[in-house]
Amino acid sequence: MGKIALVTGGTRGIGAAIAIKLKEDGCTVVSSYVGNVEKAEEFSKKTGIKTYKFDAGYFENCQKATQEIENDLGSNVDILVNNAGITKDRFLHKMSPEDWTAVINTNLNSMFNVTRSVIEKMRLKKFGRIISIGSINGLKGQVGQSNYSTAKAGLIGFSKAVALENASKGITVNVIAPGYIATEMVKKIDPEILKGIVSQIPVGRLGEPHEIASLTSYLASDQASFITGATFSINGGQYLQ
Ligand code: NDP
Repeated sequence: MGKIALVTGGTRGIGAAIAIKLKEDGCTVVSSYVGNVEKAEEFSKKTGIKTYKFDAGYFENCQKATQEIENDLGSNVDILVNNAGITKDRFLHKMSPEDWTAVINTNLNSMFNVTRSVIEKMRLKKFGRIISIGSINGLKGQVGQSNYSTAKAGLIGFSKAVALENASKGITVNVIAPGYIATEMVKKIDPEILKGIVSQIPVGRLGEPHEIASLTSYLASDQASFITGATFSINGGQYLQ
């Protein structure tokens, strides 16, 4: 059995591409999702990757689910990809507390919930790879996304701190910040607005999920053991720091 990888939100979009790539790399992969059973079953049937349904926004659920995964697989999680994410866009002056909290729970508190649930065993084993999916909009901000931009900026600080705490334990912690990638999340954007977005991408197109999966695969590999606390942009040149 190869390394054990857990991809949160790994049944659709970017997460699904990451799960498939890690499986191709020889890992034993499991994916989580929150509610879309049909997509999860379809994904599992197509890929042979086992799926687990739990809300990454709630700590107890994550503790229970990661324990179940470890019991089922007979080993601890070696590679964690914190990918689950949602958007609930509105200008701040119209945003409800519910939309703020939902995005912070799913996109930021989930970092603590899932990472906290697996990191003690990574430390004992002296190996771990934690890769979290941020966003271009956590780096540059975006109108209508004060909740999302906050969460995606927050996970960078989280990853730097956890990288420092665990650098001597063989655990690396990194962030990938994608630009606009062709998934259902982006297909939800009004076509006219999307056209405007694509016109601002120097490469002239949306990114593809497999392009995020390739870098995740490298960061998860043994070759990447000197890379930690870093944030990598994959955005077609749309935002350069
Ligand atoms: P999708 O909407 O295509 O897929 C989201 C996945 O996350 C689904 O598997 C979904 O499960 C799962 N999920 C949602 N909420 C929860 C939750 N509370 N607990 C557990 N799982 C959950 O998203 P994308 O593939 O587009 O995005 C993946 C990540 O990449 C997100 O973090 C997103 O913010 C980030 N990102 C995406 C960009 C893009 O352009 N697409 C750009 C920059 C960053 P279910 O199917 O059950 O709903």
